[in-house]
Amino acid sequence: LFVTQDLAEGAAFPLDDAQSNYLLRVLRLGTGAPVRVFNGRDGEWDVRIGNVQGKRASLEPVSRVRPQPDVPASAPILLFAPVKKAETDFIVEKATELGAAQICPVLTERTQTRTVRLDRFHKIVLEAAEQTERLDLPEVKDLQPLAAALDALAAGTVLIFCDERGDDADAPWGGETGRAGPIADVLAGLGEAPVAILIGPEGGFTPEERDWLRGREDAAAVSLGPRILRAETAAVAALSVWQALKGD
Ligand code: SAM
Repeated sequence: LFVTQDLAEGAAFPLDDAQSNYLLRVLRLGTGAPVRVFNGRDGEWDVRIGNVQGKRASLEPVSRVRPQPDVPASAPILLFAPVKKAETDFIVEKATELGAAQICPVLTERTQTRTVRLDRFHKIVLEAAEQTERLDLPEVKDLQPLAAALDALAAGTVLIFCDERGDDADAPWGGETGRAGPIADVLAGLGEAPVAILIGPEGGFTPEERDWLRGREDAAAVSLGPRILRAETAAVAALSVWQALKGD
């Protein structure tokens, strides 16, 4: 269970209405019942339900069962153009499961969905973290233009530009020499460098955006294979390769 309160030995704390309702009425627990909680800061704790007064309960931390892990410096940032609602939710959920450090929706020329619900993203992140027993929560950024998101990347971050048209012979970089490298080879060659994975919208990037991205010194164009994947599949595929090669 996720809680917002600080977790420390001996420091009992009251639960809010929603948390109390979940434990007392949905799970039908009562005083003394053991519960496992985390808050994204203090590790994972065994706690027990303390006082129940009316509809409200308090929790009493018993012992810490896992310390708060360090977020691996190599954990990827996911930059993605939001797609339809259900598919965007899917991307946020899977990025949390697969260890993304940051989830950054970005506006590109062809991004169709031009608003996002951050409260909804936070809820999905929490549920996915609970489900995967992930103790750290990915940071969720507000929707911003792609250029601004790239400007905000820390120095030394390599932009993994997922480019399904890397072998386009008519493009300035075209033909065999311009083919995007397989993502696994590119990631394997980067050592410990932090990465930001970029996935485009349903309509892909415009030729101008691709020229610009290809021309960036911090970018490596990568292929996810010969088939053109839906944006949500591409996000999962790219993060899965990172997880398999570098995830802790
Ligand atoms: N509308 C585009 C087209 O038909 O050429 C396809 C865009 S695809 C649905 C959405 C995004 O997923 C792309 O912008 C790219 O970032 C990523 N993607 C999909 N398949 C890929 C592949 N095989 N290699 C690299 N990136 C891929």
